Amino acid sequence: MTTFRAGAATDIGQARAVNQDLYLVADGIYAVADGMGGHHGGEIAAQLAVEALELHFTRPTMDDFVLAVERANDAVIREAKRDPELRGMGTTLSALAGVEVDGEDRIAVVNVGDARTYLLQDDGLLQVTKDHSLVEMLVDEGTVSRADAANHPQRNIVTRAIGIDDKIMVDSFELLPVHGDRYLICSDGLFNEVAPDAMFATLRHFLNPDEAAHELVHLANENGGRDNITCVIVDVVDGGDPPPGPDQASRLVASTTGQHRVIVEVSRHRPDVTKASDGGDGGSTDEGDADDGEDDRSPARTRRLDDLPPPRRLTWRVGVFGGLLVIAVVVAVFAVGFSARNTFYVGFEGEAVAIYRGRPGGVLWIDPTVEEVTGIGRADLPPRLVKEIEDGKDEDSLESARDYVEFLQGEADERIAADAPPDEEPVEDSRAQPRDTTTVAPDSPPGTGPP
Ligand code: MG
Repeated sequence: MTTFRAGAATDIGQARAVNQDLYLVADGIYAVADGMGGHHGGEIAAQLAVEALELHFTRPTMDDFVLAVERANDAVIREAKRDPELRGMGTTLSALAGVEVDGEDRIAVVNVGDARTYLLQDDGLLQVTKDHSLVEMLVDEGTVSRADAANHPQRNIVTRAIGIDDKIMVDSFELLPVHGDRYLICSDGLFNEVAPDAMFATLRHFLNPDEAAHELVHLANENGGRDNITCVIVDVVDGGDPPPGPDQASRLVASTTGQHRVIVEVSRHRPDVTKASDGGDGGSTDEGDADDGEDDRSPARTRRLDDLPPPRRLTWRVGVFGGLLVIAVVVAVFAVGFSARNTFYVGFEGEAVAIYRGRPGGVLWIDPTVEEVTGIGRADLPPRLVKEIEDGKDEDSLESARDYVEFLQGEADERIAADAPPDEEPVEDSRAQPRDTTTVAPDSPPGTGPP
């Protein structure tokens, strides 16, 4: 079985309150987990995942290694279900182990999320793993260029993580162990801060893997340290000779994405090789190189970057918040729409009082419609009611609107009666009065009148 020598370093960085990254350096198995989630969820998710990975990797086979990642997923999900405060926690995980395939020694690399495993080459770094991130998807689709991806505002959103879904898709890669090869497993807190050429130079300069790991963490902190930083460096101590091929990319013999194992031709992985020459000055980030180079460390630059949300924990929440916001807006729009079509008001349709369905002036795209026009005219009503109706008198239902119209009718009748010309009133009275006067003699008690 292949033997390794490893070194590791982790640091909280300059901006975070806790370190949710965790590394594993054990006998023949190495990993980096980058946890996400509040209430210490990220730390717990990373710890559960790493512990389960080590516990369940009992036989050195590729299948067992992938199975151990699936068990890690189960462990995180189980704990999140048990403790509501931990709901939504998750972690990325990239790991490397020595395995056997058909009796041959192999190096197995597994990945879920955007922690990365690189292979140091003569002229650069080969990124063995493929990020499960939104930006990587956009690059694949051709929507975003590889150069723009490093500066993309949503570059920290991951599309896969351990602890999120019961069914997890694990990428796995199978490589030839070659004596002297060096692998780097790291969290995004490293590669988002340190340019590929600086990573390459450091990995080449420090022969001791522990020293190299600490130097990389130091560089990330120097460049801002906006996230937790973790790296594990694994050296192949007793592998075979390099295989024939154009470069070390030829070590990759197979890979799987999720459940579907596919043999990948080496040439198809060439575009993933991150050349050292891609970067700018050794200490700056990709972002700095693309934007304003040396201004990377200027106060103005720092302030602007500090104003950005912390890399992933917040964007993780923003994703959920964004989804909830969309749902809330849709529900609100439908609620308003429903309300707008099921309320009524009394207003004027021309000079006539009418009952409308809807709200005075309309709501959003919904205009009120006339439900009933009454025979009551504007002129029939007292001014105080005219004003009220001009503004639109809200009613909860058609029934209550009709009740109000009935009230208006009463008011109108009274007003008509009060405004009636004086010479019309005696008509009724003149018919009645003689009858009254003949039957009742106001000043004479009954029975005392003249016979
Ligand atoms: Mg991170």
